[in-house]
Amino acid sequence: MKYAGVSKHIVAGMALCLPLLLGSPLSHAASPESREPAKLLFGHEKLPSPGPSQPIGFYSRGCMQGGLALPLTGPTWQIMHPERNRNWGTSWLIDFLKRVSARAARYSGWPGLLIGDMAQPRGGPMLNLHGSHQIGMEADIWFTPMPHHVMSAHERATKRALDMVASNGMHVSRNWTNAQMQALRAVAIDPEVDRIFVNPAIKKAICATATGNRAWLNKIHPYYGHKTHFHVRLFCPPGAPACKPQAPYFKGEMCGKHLAYWFSAAVMHPKPNPHYRPRPPLTLAQLPAPCAAVLRQR
Ligand SMILES: [Zn+2]
Repeated sequence: MKYAGVSKHIVAGMALCLPLLLGSPLSHAASPESREPAKLLFGHEKLPSPGPSQPIGFYSRGCMQGGLALPLTGPTWQIMHPERNRNWGTSWLIDFLKRVSARAARYSGWPGLLIGDMAQPRGGPMLNLHGSHQIGMEADIWFTPMPHHVMSAHERATKRALDMVASNGMHVSRNWTNAQMQALRAVAIDPEVDRIFVNPAIKKAICATATGNRAWLNKIHPYYGHKTHFHVRLFCPPGAPACKPQAPYFKGEMCGKHLAYWFSAAVMHPKPNPHYRPRPPLTLAQLPAPCAAVLRQR
């Protein structure tokens, strides 16, 4: 039911566009561009492809048809780094951010949320910074409160985010307050959220202090980095047949042994691995076949 507002539009889109896109298996595989790093192709696209919003593929191996822009300023949000042109997402992500930013403002007492990178106009791999964010179903949200004034483009490009984690990585810093936790909770309780990544020290603080209904804690995954922002990943929605879901992972609050692992010597002080080789960048041929059509459509 929660998707009722967009279902008609999506069903129409599937009829018009998806057969066209999904019915072209690997037709791009022989083209010379198919072996180029896909980030070079998607990273320079300035505008979305036509057609209704559709996430295509997996969060870290895919693209997006019919991207929509979240306005740079809304009643309860402001986009950071607008110069990156990464304020794009599927209709689900756009609706979600509008909805949860309003709730986060109420829960935290802040004027709203600062939104970081979402996706590129046509999704796909990015030139820098992210391995995922490819299908228009993910966003980074800052732990720094939104100011009361509308920020200039310069301020959005240069403002420093507050670090929520102490320098030893073992616990939160003095920047972490109940307001940050309430903003995070406001986002995590939304039923469209699959998982949220935060620094392990932040998960530890939440495990120690969250009161009331703690069911949302199982959405909060400890991960490297994520000291100044949290990363939200939405479920593949009904009406998005080309979206590849991620297997469920957490059971319960996961505040015990699993969390303790993140503070073990193996994670905190890893030994260098002499056999480590960075993975070569994804090529267009390695993305789902419809992504070639997403790039071509004007
Ligand atoms: Zn992210």
